Amino acid sequence: MVMGDLVREVDVAVVGGGPGGYSAAFRCAELGLETVVVDASHRLGGACLWEGCIPSKALLHVAAVLGEVERAKDFGVDFGEPRIALDALRKWKAERVVGKLARGLAAVAKSKGVEVVGGRGVFEDSRALRVEGDAPQKIRFTHAVVATGSAPAPLPGLALARDRVMDSTAALELPDVPERLLVVGGGYIGLELGQVYAALGSKVTLVEMTDGLLPGVDRDLVQPLTRRCEKLFVKIRLDTTVASLSERGSQIEARFGDGDTIAVDRVLVAVGRRPVSADLGLETTRVRPDARGVVAVDEQCRTADPRIWAVGDVTGEPMLAHRAMRQGKVAAEAIAGRPAALDNVVVPAVVFTDPEVAWCGLTEARAQREGRRVRIAKFQWAASGRAATLGRADGVTKLVADADTGRVLGVGIVGPGAGELIAEGALAVETALTAEDLAATIHTHPTLSETLMEAAETLLRPA
Ligand code: NAD
Repeated sequence: MVMGDLVREVDVAVVGGGPGGYSAAFRCAELGLETVVVDASHRLGGACLWEGCIPSKALLHVAAVLGEVERAKDFGVDFGEPRIALDALRKWKAERVVGKLARGLAAVAKSKGVEVVGGRGVFEDSRALRVEGDAPQKIRFTHAVVATGSAPAPLPGLALARDRVMDSTAALELPDVPERLLVVGGGYIGLELGQVYAALGSKVTLVEMTDGLLPGVDRDLVQPLTRRCEKLFVKIRLDTTVASLSERGSQIEARFGDGDTIAVDRVLVAVGRRPVSADLGLETTRVRPDARGVVAVDEQCRTADPRIWAVGDVTGEPMLAHRAMRQGKVAAEAIAGRPAALDNVVVPAVVFTDPEVAWCGLTEARAQREGRRVRIAKFQWAASGRAATLGRADGVTKLVADADTGRVLGVGIVGPGAGELIAEGALAVETALTAEDLAATIHTHPTLSETLMEAAETLLRPA
């Protein structure tokens, strides 16, 4: 077939089938719009399902089980040394976790009448897309949604020639468990995957450019995680960058900015992600990504081109799947002409390490910077009955509330299960609850959720 033979007309063409793209497509279809998703990988799920959130959480679950087995010795249960069958682990991750969810997504698409077109989508103008690949075709659309996501950022100035220098995608494949692993970057990915490899037996050294792990996150929350990482990792080097990586026989020598060197078997680079907006033909439309590749959008996720919308990582920080999904639904509603806006007060965030770190809304540091009058509550989990039964006194639940009204403006939690508990915090901030509302809500006993109630109660006492 000659490219361009087949021309399809649709209401909505979504470019990219990750959480932002499929959420937009599903909602468009529910609202009666004929919708296709164009994805180069011929499948739905995007980086989140295939090389991000889902496989990393599967591996982190394994790391958590290994951690619990280790802790069980404290209460007299010894399972002996764990034996890890990597093939079985990879198979479970690929088939029982990722594969199962992928089949589910494909079934949902089918039930909603959303077709997935395999191939690379390239804009020809503000009305048409060219699909490149095995089945070239042209799609004319009334609206398009750019949901092309992001890709791992390379380490500036260092060519990553060796297959033993991995990005997160390669690391999630679990090619082996290297004896010595260097992790570059102490953000979400460096910490999550650093802990996975450490749990599986690698000796992990982590270098972070700034003076602390998870830059920008409340230090009260980061501290317990740092302590845990200091136990799990061989070394954490802060204020450190990698000046060079070179091959020395079968190993890699890393030279740091201060001249120190170490030899390792593999390197994981996790220094951020960049939007994917190049080579999409956007120059033929009115969309102009900025120097970093970010596509600017308004509250409806509308770009500078009235027919083109954008959702997810391609629209910049925070690059989180749940934000992309919400954007996708907002864009779909707006395309269908319904009132919709991304007017959320908070986008909660979770780092799925041990312990988990989760937060939403205003932080103490930002309140100080902005000179806002707030009251801070910190509830140490050492006083939580549930935490004691779990052998986990290392958690903290923190609230930031308006000093005058008591309105909850921010919530931070560190400890096992923080990623689930933050949902209550997000609801509280989003719906303008006060500390009194949280304190007066009966929380089941004994649970870690009580720590939110307890933290709120401290705010009801005179300052
Ligand atoms: P990140 O921005 O979280 O962390 C990158 C870290 O690398 C920062 O701490 C930064 O200071 C450091 N860094 C940058 N350049 C460096 C250098 N040359 N040498 C040493 N350190 C350097 O980025 P990430 O961990 O790569 O993750 C990318 C994005 O993916 C995240 O921002 C997040 O949006 C998303 N993500 C989310 C989750 C989650 O929701 N749990 C998990 C993984 C990834």
